[in-house]
Amino acid sequence: GPVLGLEASCDETAAAVLAPDGTILAEAVRSQLAEHTPFGGVVPEIAARAHLAHLPALTAKVLAEAGIAAADLGGIAATSGPGLIGGLIVGATFGKGMAIALDKPFVAVNHLEGHALTARIPGMVPGGVEFPFLLLLLSGGHCQCVAVEGLGRYRRLGSTLDDAVGEAFDKSAKLLGLPWPGGPALEALARTGDPKRFPLPRPMLRRPGCDFSFSGLKTAVAQTVPKLASDQDRADLAAAFQYVVAAVLADRASNALGMMPGATAMVVAGGVAANQGVRAALHGVAEAHGLPLVAPPIRLCTDNAVMIAWAGIERLRAGLSDPLDHAPRPRWPLAELSA
Ligand code: ATP
Ligand code: MG
Ligand code: FE
Repeated sequence: GPVLGLEASCDETAAAVLAPDGTILAEAVRSQLAEHTPFGGVVPEIAARAHLAHLPALTAKVLAEAGIAAADLGGIAATSGPGLIGGLIVGATFGKGMAIALDKPFVAVNHLEGHALTARIPGMVPGGVEFPFLLLLLSGGHCQCVAVEGLGRYRRLGSTLDDAVGEAFDKSAKLLGLPWPGGPALEALARTGDPKRFPLPRPMLRRPGCDFSFSGLKTAVAQTVPKLASDQDRADLAAAFQYVVAAVLADRASNALGMMPGATAMVVAGGVAANQGVRAALHGVAEAHGLPLVAPPIRLCTDNAVMIAWAGIERLRAGLSDPLDHAPRPRWPLAELSA
């Protein structure tokens, strides 16, 4: 039967129902932007309470939209890490409760595996994506290059030494006086800017490997902001920041592909994949390596439950499910998964 996916690891409450073949029967995401905006970032306690308040109705809604009775589900998949522990407990416990009541298998999904496997949902990409492929996970909480070798088989090739790339966008946007979350606002401001006006450092560029570092860039932005006198100056600095980030990501992605000779595709996930400058730079790298750049639609790049249901389907298909005493894990590196 269809699989219910539940996501509550950060600041999106989400539920989705997918048919066993991956057809999306219903999906819903409730962002907590309004709750957290007054604080300029995600407040874990507020997040957990909001997940608890909204997950039951969201679940009922997707089941109704899919036209599926809970009793006809084939399984329940809930994000069980990594993420904010309060939200993880809400989502995983809710999922386990349904699994007990309905006597269905429960899958404790790793959120990063959800992002990693999204590109494999049938119909997502013409022709599909075969293992192994390179995953660039570019979000507010994560910044890594991962070799995806199979279900449950992940090798981290590189990751950030300090800030995640989305965090760098958010911090620089804040320095530029833009509202949180800063990524989209910074991209909009950058559109009218000259990326060459302010030279910024390009951390890690041309170093071996594919680790990232963004804190030096943020410092350079902080040092430049007091020199800005006009809106054009601010746009120029935003453009310079975005240009440098895209260049660094492209350099790191190119090295990652060099470390993964068998890769069939370069897949991007995470909110920063929405950035057109970043996409264009990564497209150039993939093309230079003779590979397709696969970017799922934005709504499936950011946090969602479709990816959680799909990871559940891939796991159930492989004969995998989890015991009901599986404990949510705030830290849960992809490399620790098995299949
Ligand atoms: P996690 O890391 O657990 O997936 P998250 O909520 O931080 O959690 P996402 O929801 O995938 O991650 O993405 C949000 C991040 O993406 C924010 O840092 C946001 O600023 C950034 N972002 C979104 N749109 C853009 C854009 N157009 N340009 C640059 N950054 C963007
Ligand atoms: Mg989010
Ligand atoms: Fe995420």
